[in-house]
Amino acid sequence: MAERTETRVAFIGSECYPFVKTGGLGDVMYALPRALVREGQEVRVILPLYSCIPAKYKEQMVWKGSFMMDLTQDGRSFFVGVMELEKDGVVYDFIENKEFFDWGNPYTGLWEDIPKYCYFAKASLAALNFLEWTPDVVHCHDWQAALVPVYLRTRFALTPVGAARSVLTIHNLRFQGICSIEHLKYWTGLQDDLFTYDVFLVNDNEANMFKGGLAYADRVTTVSETYAQEIQTDFYGEGLNGHLWYHRAKLRGIVNGIDVEQWDPQADQLLPVSYGREEILSRKGENKRALQRRLGLQEDEGKLLLGLVSRLTDQKGLDLVDAVFEQMLDENTQIIVLGTGDPRYENAFRYFESVHKGQVSACIMYDESLSHQIYGGVDALLVPSLFEPCGLTQLIAMRYGTVPIVRETGGLKDTVEPYNEYTGEGNGFTFDRYEADLLLDAVRRAREVYFQHRDRWNAVVQRDMDKDVSWTHSARQYLELYHELKG
Ligand code: ADP
Repeated sequence: MAERTETRVAFIGSECYPFVKTGGLGDVMYALPRALVREGQEVRVILPLYSCIPAKYKEQMVWKGSFMMDLTQDGRSFFVGVMELEKDGVVYDFIENKEFFDWGNPYTGLWEDIPKYCYFAKASLAALNFLEWTPDVVHCHDWQAALVPVYLRTRFALTPVGAARSVLTIHNLRFQGICSIEHLKYWTGLQDDLFTYDVFLVNDNEANMFKGGLAYADRVTTVSETYAQEIQTDFYGEGLNGHLWYHRAKLRGIVNGIDVEQWDPQADQLLPVSYGREEILSRKGENKRALQRRLGLQEDEGKLLLGLVSRLTDQKGLDLVDAVFEQMLDENTQIIVLGTGDPRYENAFRYFESVHKGQVSACIMYDESLSHQIYGGVDALLVPSLFEPCGLTQLIAMRYGTVPIVRETGGLKDTVEPYNEYTGEGNGFTFDRYEADLLLDAVRRAREVYFQHRDRWNAVVQRDMDKDVSWTHSARQYLELYHELKG
C-alpha cells in the first residue's frame, strides 16, 4: 500500500463558526481546518453538540453511532453519541450528550463547564477510536480541550489514538479551567500522581486544567509571536508565566489569519454595496451612509466614523475608551459600538448614546450581519486592548479597507504597522502604554490625517486592502509544525 503523504489532524475545541461562535476561537476553528484542507491535508473537527446549534445544521448531520464511556473517579459511565457533517472537505464530528450539552449556550459557568469539558476531552479521543480514524496530530484549543494531551498520554496511551502527537493552542490565557482539586479529580478520574505542582496543581486547594495540558502537550502554540513572549512575563502570564517559561522550548507563536471568503468586501452579501480595492474610495461612502441611516446617526459621508466591535470585557481596553469617549467625539466624528458583555460597559455606551443622539450608536447585541456592515462602513476601527493574543477584528478591518487604531500588544503589534507621519508608511494608528491619553492621541493623529491629508489616508486604506491577512502563510507554519512532530 502506498504510504499516506497527507497529514491527518483532529481539531478539538469548544466552538466553531458557523455552528457556534462566541469569539475569535470560533473563527479559527472554522478557517484553519479549511486552509489545511486546501493544502491537501485531512482534517476532522470535534465539537460538542450544543443545543444552541441551529437546526439547519443538525438536520444535515449523519448519525455515526454511540457508546458508553467511563469518566469519573467513582467509575460512572456516560453516553457518547457521534453525529457527523461534511462541509467543504472538512469533516465535523459532534459529540452528543444531553446531560452536558443541553444547557443552551456553550459556557454556562465554571461549575458546570468543568465537568462538561472533562467529559468532552475524553469523549473526543474515545470518538476518534470509535470512528477508527487515527490522526497524526490532535490539535487542541484553549482550556476546554486542554485535558486532551493529558488523556492522550495516560488513559489512551495504549489505544490507536495514543500514537498521535499533540499541539495545544492558547487563544486566551485568561480562562484556564481552575477548580478545587477534588472536583477535578472526581470529573477526570485521573490518577493522583498527576495532581502535582508541575501538572495540575495551583495551590493546596486548586487545580488548573490548562496548566496540565500545557505540561503534557508535545507543542504549545499561541496566536502571535508577541503574545508568546508576553505570556512568559508576570503582567500577561495570568499566573502561568513560570510554567510557560519552563516549557518555553516547545512554545511558539503563529499569527492568526482570517477566512478571506467569509470576509470578502467584494462578494459580501451583507454589505449594501460590495467593493474591491479599485472601488473602495467611491463605494465606502455609500456603505457609510447606509450604516448611519440604519443606526440613526446623522447621515454625512464627510464625518469620520469610528467603530468598535468587541466582547465588552476589561481585556478589550474599554476603560480607556470610557475615559476619553467624550474627547474622541467632536462635531466631525461619530462612534458606533457593537458588543455585549460586562454591564458596566454596556451601560456606559448606552449612556453615551443617550447624550449624543445622532452622533453615537451603542448596539448592545451580538449581530454577525451588523458586524459586516460596520467593518464595511466605518473609516477606522478601535482595538485598544489591555492584552490581545492575536485579535481578528483589526485583520477583518484591514481587509475591508478600514484603518485600525490599536494598542501595541500581542497580535495587534504583530499585524498593524504604525503610521509614520514622515514617510506616510504604515497601515494603522498605534499607541504603546495602556493609557487613555495615548488612545486619544492616536485618534487625534488619525483624525488629522483623515481630514488634512486625505491622499495619505487613502494610501493607508489601499495598503490595508493589499495586506495578506489570509490563512495561507500561517496554515503552512502549522503544517511545518505537524511535520516536525511526525518526524
Ligand atoms: P475575542 O476572541 O477575544 O473575542 P477576536 O478579535 O479574536 O476577539 O475575535 C472577535 C470575533 O468576534 C470577530 O469575528 C468579531 O467580528 C466577532 N464579534 C465580537 N463581538 C461581536 C458582536 N457583538 N457581534 C458580532 N460579532 C462580534
